[in-house]
Amino acid sequence: MDIKEYVATRKETIKEYIKGLDIKPHLIIVSINEDPASQAYVRGKLKDGEEVGANVELVKLPLETTQKQLLDYIEIYNKDESIHGIIVQMPLPKEIDEEQIKNSIDVRKDVDGFNILSSFHPCTPYGIIKYLEFNKIDFCSKNVVVVGRSNIVGKPMAKLLLERHCNVTVLHSRTKKEDMNYYLSHADIVVSAVGKKYLLEGYKFKKDAVLIDVGINRVDGKLYGDIPPSQDVKLQTPVPGGVGLLTRLTLLENLLEAYKNEI
Ligand code: NDP
Repeated sequence: MDIKEYVATRKETIKEYIKGLDIKPHLIIVSINEDPASQAYVRGKLKDGEEVGANVELVKLPLETTQKQLLDYIEIYNKDESIHGIIVQMPLPKEIDEEQIKNSIDVRKDVDGFNILSSFHPCTPYGIIKYLEFNKIDFCSKNVVVVGRSNIVGKPMAKLLLERHCNVTVLHSRTKKEDMNYYLSHADIVVSAVGKKYLLEGYKFKKDAVLIDVGINRVDGKLYGDIPPSQDVKLQTPVPGGVGLLTRLTLLENLLEAYKNEI
């Protein structure tokens, strides 16, 4: 099933579930930036909430907000029993320590899964795993290459794949081109999470490879992935309309989970 159809079906199930609830799942999104990409993500999350009937609320704070003020807000939301999920939208002003903020969110409400002790997996890697599992992609003993080693995508992706018995290789900015070539040409599954338009152009993939393109690259108002489209492989996720939808779906699923745990 393609990603759009898969996400639409899952959202319908969530919507039906929420319809029967007296108290709706409540998510707070705190945003302190004027970044157009970040604002577009927030609009997507608000739209998703509306679609499934969850109460998704945006709290926009001024750019001068201090670390202490933000921590105070989070403390209030942590204690408020009517709130089931809290997201602090990145990026934050550079004076604010992102790690400290991420780790200040109550682990039961950290639906982004960014807190090191969170009850939830980070949305992007977990959304990818669940989509591949739904499509009956076999993980055990497969050679998987993850390009990118960030804390929110690359590393948790590698961990989830290892837990499913893949042979995982993680590549990054210091990987030599000849090694990229070697590992990519042997991969059964490639997950690229770099953020450089068509970075993987010119590499050879196996014909039965699965290519998961996490990259979102905005060039002249258009979105591009890390991998050029139409590779000769078994499955390639598109950009846009691919992994981003899985990330947003997983956020809704995490919110519902947080709600159920709380109730
Ligand atoms: P980061 O910038 O935190 O990490 C990028 C990673 O790519 C780093 O580990 C970096 O290596 C590696 N890298 C940089 N250049 C190269 C190169 N030439 N070859 C190989 N590896 C390289 O980004 P994120 O992980 O936060 O996001 C990655 C991309 O995914 C972005 O485009 C982002 O917008 C997108 N994204 C999409 C989501 C979705 O839902 N679709 C969700 C989250 C992110 P090093 O560690 O050595 O610097």
